[in-house]
Amino acid sequence: MNAPYMAPADTPVRQVTITIDGEEVSVPEGSTILTACNEAGKDTPTLCYGDTLTPKNACRVCMVELKGSRVLVPSCSRKVQPGMEVMTDTERVRHSRRLVLELLGSSVDLSTTPRIPEWMERYNADPDRYGERAGESLRRDVHDPGEHHAGNGSIAATMAQPDKIDNDLYVREYDKCILCYKCVDACGPQWQNSFAIQIAGRGFDAQISTEFAVELPDSACVFCGNCVEVCPTGALSFKTEYDMRAAGTWDESQQTTTTTVCTYCGVGCNLELHVQDNKIVKVTSPHDHSVSHGNLCIKGRFGYAHVQSREKDGSS
Ligand code: SF4
Ligand code: SF4
Repeated sequence: MNAPYMAPADTPVRQVTITIDGEEVSVPEGSTILTACNEAGKDTPTLCYGDTLTPKNACRVCMVELKGSRVLVPSCSRKVQPGMEVMTDTERVRHSRRLVLELLGSSVDLSTTPRIPEWMERYNADPDRYGERAGESLRRDVHDPGEHHAGNGSIAATMAQPDKIDNDLYVREYDKCILCYKCVDACGPQWQNSFAIQIAGRGFDAQISTEFAVELPDSACVFCGNCVEVCPTGALSFKTEYDMRAAGTWDESQQTTTTTVCTYCGVGCNLELHVQDNKIVKVTSPHDHSVSHGNLCIKGRFGYAHVQSREKDGSS
């Protein structure tokens, strides 16, 4: 795995001072504008940004205005330079974020994307002004395939796929996919190096796919779940979560999270056990841990069934 470069502890790091919405903020050289915004207490929406991944600049929801720049800049990837003057809440920024949220909301299902309702309200976004949402028209087509329904133009290929349930560990709901590439990067050279998934097709045909669109058990996937860890929309989810959502029993307010060390081997990966009704319902991994950086293998991620076997088999 590629651990991010970390300077030795005694290496002095130069501070860079910029202004954000008129207030000075200093961050270590090499930081991004997003880091500076966080430091300054500016709540910046992000979707394709991942704290363990190289920025992809795919979603464009974190754009900010930079004095002297003709265009808005992505705060997740633009590095700070001394004297930068950044604006995070101008009419131009609000308009851009509103448009991005509306286009995403009108084209894919964002119902399990954290914080979306809050951001939609903050930016006064109304995905319905583009006509019927792609998901609604698609659902009607599935029920009534003989009829042509006017929807919001072409339905992207990623929407036009049924939920992919081809194994007992995790489910792929690509009608929730915003094509942010995070799963591809987590599976590829940035972490797992399995290269089991990639973007297939271009434009409206673009979708995440295994090689030749085979089912996951027939692909190069090793079921580490590192793609599930980084997916920002819930397009990839534990089978347990998927089933509990379908049954109406998934309730994050009733869940506790316990951090522990995986006992399968001696590497020392950290696990976060999400527990509801005294059962582990999913396992994540802390992104700031120096060993695992949010990544696990199949055993740490999914190998917990024995823990909750409550039946005694008579053996000692
Ligand atoms: S579970 Fe691991 S190997 Fe399989 S697609 Fe996801 S990141 Fe790649
Ligand atoms: S499945 Fe999730 S992580 Fe992968 S591209 Fe789609 S939204 Fe991004």
